Amino acid sequence: MLFDSHSHITDEKFKNDRDDVIKRAFDAGVKWILNPAVDFQSSLDAIELAEKYENIYAAVGVHPHDAKTLDDNLLSLIKSLAGKECVRAIGEIGLDFYYDNSPRDIQRHWFRKQIQMAKQVGKPIISHDRDAHGEVFDILCDEDAFENGVLMHCYSASAEMAKEYVKKGAYISLGGPVTFKNAKKAHEVAKVVDIDYLMIETDSPYLTPEPYRGKRNESAHVQYVAKRIADLREIPVELVAEKTTANAKRFFGIL
Ligand SMILES: [Zn+2]
Repeated sequence: MLFDSHSHITDEKFKNDRDDVIKRAFDAGVKWILNPAVDFQSSLDAIELAEKYENIYAAVGVHPHDAKTLDDNLLSLIKSLAGKECVRAIGEIGLDFYYDNSPRDIQRHWFRKQIQMAKQVGKPIISHDRDAHGEVFDILCDEDAFENGVLMHCYSASAEMAKEYVKKGAYISLGGPVTFKNAKKAHEVAKVVDIDYLMIETDSPYLTPEPYRGKRNESAHVQYVAKRIADLREIPVELVAEKTTANAKRFFGIL
């Protein structure tokens, strides 16, 4: 049984075949899926989907790309959604200094505000970090985010830093890039991170793993991430499945 800890099933790329995509995932051994939001509308959509499917859960929040759309009013609307039973995290939130779709100061401000909101509602956060490794870590420390729960989604920083995160009690999630031949950093992370703090994800429809690289990604493909991690650690894939699923269930509070 697999747990895809990060799959954007409500993305418009799935609008014509969403139910088929979900069925394929369940048929491929994926039993649980966490569907994160990127803005207010996708927060509403994630809740609607989670209320329809028993084993699909939602996160609500605003992605750093869309940080410029946030204001205090919208944040309190999102906070009011966060208390729902199907909402298991705030996310994805963080910093993206690769695309810089929102000004960096705006990203920093709303990352902090959303961490504070997560602590107020008692939900963990799903953190997005692209080319902002040092600053994401510093803000998480500064805001005392770790005791509330932190998941570093599609982790792309160094193995050394991953160990620092785990020391703080944060979880590390790996996605499609770990299946790429030249992804040396992700391979190192897959090998050294304490298996009790590891998760797997697709980040679908993005970051498609081998052997489907270049095509639209979907949750059924999380099995290739699990397989690659098992090969890198030289352990059975069943053990990777068992551990990463148990970790995700613990993190998201699923019995
Ligand atoms: Zn994502």
